[in-house]
Amino acid sequence: MSDKRVERWWQLPLDKLSPVQWEQLCDGCGKCCLHKLQDEDTEELYFTAVACRFLDTEAVRCTCYQDRAVKNQDCLVIKPDNIESMLDWLPQTCAYRLRYEGQSLPAWHPLISGDALQIVRCGHSVKHRVISEERLEPDADWEELILLDIL
Ligand code: SF4
Ligand code: SF4
Repeated sequence: MSDKRVERWWQLPLDKLSPVQWEQLCDGCGKCCLHKLQDEDTEELYFTAVACRFLDTEAVRCTCYQDRAVKNQDCLVIKPDNIESMLDWLPQTCAYRLRYEGQSLPAWHPLISGDALQIVRCGHSVKHRVISEERLEPDADWEELILLDIL
């Protein structure tokens, strides 16, 4: 008989996950690597189609993952003991956010679907949707680059 508790380790509290499990919990959406705009009046945040210069926008992978906190001091390095302070900056679909809030992972999450491309098909990956900040025209209008479907 298989052990469902082990199979569904992602249902454990965040602080019970091993380092490997913690990394596997990330769905790889890339949304947290997008620049955001904040409305000065409402303080509401908007995700833009402009990605951190360290994001490989084709693979949707950080090119300096191990050193990201050093190379990009704006990077959100999420840990069990700081996630609460980052909730304002994380998308509603972020797996860490969902589990912190006691919610289930969505069906398109790689751990649930078993298919790393399902997140792309379901429109929850930034793949094919963003440009690197390094390729942004200097006079680009950031408000025109807001992605209204990322919350
Ligand atoms: S440094 Fe890496 S993980 Fe951090 S925002 Fe940039 S691409 Fe994302
Ligand atoms: S938003 Fe959350 S789940 Fe998506 S890539 Fe960032 S840390 Fe991972």
